[in-house]
Amino acid sequence: MRDEDEIVRESAGGPYRQIVARGVSRRDFLKFCSAMAAVLGLSGTFAGKIAEAIEKAERPILVWLEFQDCAGNTEALLRATKPTIAEIVLDVLSVDYHETIMAPAGKQAEKSLEDVVKNHKGKYIACVEGSIPLKDNGVYCCVGGRSAIDIAKEVCGNALATIAVGTCATSGGIPAAAPNPTGAIGVKQALPNVTVLNLTGCPMNVENLTATVVHFLTFGGLPATDSIGRPLFAYGERIHDHCERRAHYDAGQFVKQWGDEGHRQGWCLYEMGCKGPETFGNCPVVKYNEGTSWPVQAGHGCIGCFQPEFWDKMTPFYRRLPKVPGFGVEVTADKIGAGVAAVAAVGVAAHRIARAIRGKQDKKEDTE
Ligand code: SF4
Repeated sequence: MRDEDEIVRESAGGPYRQIVARGVSRRDFLKFCSAMAAVLGLSGTFAGKIAEAIEKAERPILVWLEFQDCAGNTEALLRATKPTIAEIVLDVLSVDYHETIMAPAGKQAEKSLEDVVKNHKGKYIACVEGSIPLKDNGVYCCVGGRSAIDIAKEVCGNALATIAVGTCATSGGIPAAAPNPTGAIGVKQALPNVTVLNLTGCPMNVENLTATVVHFLTFGGLPATDSIGRPLFAYGERIHDHCERRAHYDAGQFVKQWGDEGHRQGWCLYEMGCKGPETFGNCPVVKYNEGTSWPVQAGHGCIGCFQPEFWDKMTPFYRRLPKVPGFGVEVTADKIGAGVAAVAAVGVAAHRIARAIRGKQDKKEDTE
């Protein structure tokens, strides 16, 4: 007698056909759909809709452009070995051009890109990794004899959607750090008339790319974003508000030196330069390497790489956030976070926490 998976294998359509062909069970597939609903901030009831969409969707075409980059986001993509299904969902995209991983080279490779733009105008997804240099007519980054800005204008300008991956593509990143010798900028700034979704991070978390693709397959469009084009499901809340060390922060228990007793006890890394209070991202929730860990859990402060221009604005990495005179350390951090929150229109939690902490501080002062 045939089991359920066998029946599914024979009847599967869309990208789901590739998934079952890899031996993924129906149960694991549905678990993946539930996990994606959670990452996207949707209720569990959306898991069925996601499953249905992946089963029926056309295999989308994707082209991946690399400009001034270190290929760190490509590495993140390729290292997505677990959860396996996430990798497979990315696999089942028809990746028609990706200079690091594609078999063809030279003119043949460039022809693949030309063919996509010509034959699938308005129907493909363009992912861009790396910044775009504008100085001296863009000569500092050329591929196949064309400048990055020239390629981006044509490829992104004719795409159904453009996703900028990593901090270099979203705001210039390290190439744009002062003195920015090549005049590097992010894709959104370079192409103001193109709709660009920004997945910041150095590198971006591949879970967020997977969830974006799943959102696209399920709802036929890109997710809602904040004022700088980042999806709210991934960048709507501060790292500080979901950090497992937060209770130590609230209790005033700070690591003072690497390897001290507080560090061994997992206390807050704020005084060691942690930028979690002014960084928006879902690192503490989604984590990395199959949800194993994330930098703060591993004992290092957040360096704020999810924030635009982090290389200039978040350094020195090991110096604590500036202290505003007249406030305690906790209120200072939350005031800064609240300022950033106002920009992203998600400041309610920050104010609530600031009030609670202020109350605690007042009580402490009364006692003293
Ligand atoms: S300052 Fe950093 S380590 Fe401390 S609670 Fe906030 S995010 Fe976590």
